[in-house]
Amino acid sequence: MAGILVVTGGSRGIGAATSRMAASRGWDVAVNYKGNEAAAEAVVADIQAAGRRAIAIQGDMAVEADILRLFEETTAALGPITGVVNNAGITGAGSRLEDVSLDTIKSVIDLNVTGALLVAREAVKRLSTRHGGTGGGIVNLSSAASRLGGTGELIPYAASKGAIDTLTIGLAKEVGGEGIRVNAVSPGLIDTDIHNSTGDMNRMNRLLPGVPMGRVGTADEVAEAILWLLSPASGYVTGTIIQVTGGRL
Ligand code: NAP
Repeated sequence: MAGILVVTGGSRGIGAATSRMAASRGWDVAVNYKGNEAAAEAVVADIQAAGRRAIAIQGDMAVEADILRLFEETTAALGPITGVVNNAGITGAGSRLEDVSLDTIKSVIDLNVTGALLVAREAVKRLSTRHGGTGGGIVNLSSAASRLGGTGELIPYAASKGAIDTLTIGLAKEVGGEGIRVNAVSPGLIDTDIHNSTGDMNRMNRLLPGVPMGRVGTADEVAEAILWLLSPASGYVTGTIIQVTGGRL
């Protein structure tokens, strides 16, 4: 049964596709964004046009106070949360590890690891039957990089996504008896803005030969997996990491 969904980083890319698709499957959605208000409001407008409720909430998911406020404002505006997509993530500038700055490492870990842990913590407080919740689903965004290693360009990012895999497995076991299923989706090369933020405007084309299916994926193809993991159709699935990579394993 659909309910009330929080999507961190819901304004663009995979988060925006997930927010729109969730609405088409009956969810009301809190669309979090960091700076791109116009993109978030466009997602909200599409959701409302589809007949569901939505709200755009600014907040830096690397900042604990903003994470707490996101959950409070969502509950106040839409009601009790039943699903969370832990999606906001950055790659940091690409380089070999020996050339990576401390600032890059910190910014990647602060958002992709610390922020994701805090979002998951707040989700559990609201969803768990242990805290009076009705249960629900958490889907974390990992990456094929957690297995491939980010060699030559994005090792801090890859390491951060390794942490997401571990979070998913550990938390699924911790709250499995409390009505919460915790899973991850691990996308490969997906056509979004994130690749340009590495500083290599040709990143998708450069890596394309490594994709067995011979093409990049779409944000909608990732959203399909996320929405399945949030739906009753996956009712006995928890602690699982679904690869959406066109065979790039
Ligand atoms: P994207 O197109 O770059 O979009 C990033 C989204 O996250 C935007 O909505 C952005 O908000 C938001 N965001 C960035 N920093 C934030 C912060 N500190 N607090 C809150 N929101 C923040 O990224 P994407 O490609 O959709 O990636 C989404 C997730 O999938 C990430 O976790 C990424 O690691 C993972 N992933 C992506 C790929 C891929 O090929 N695209 C592959 C594997 C994994 P604004 O619009 O306000 O800037």
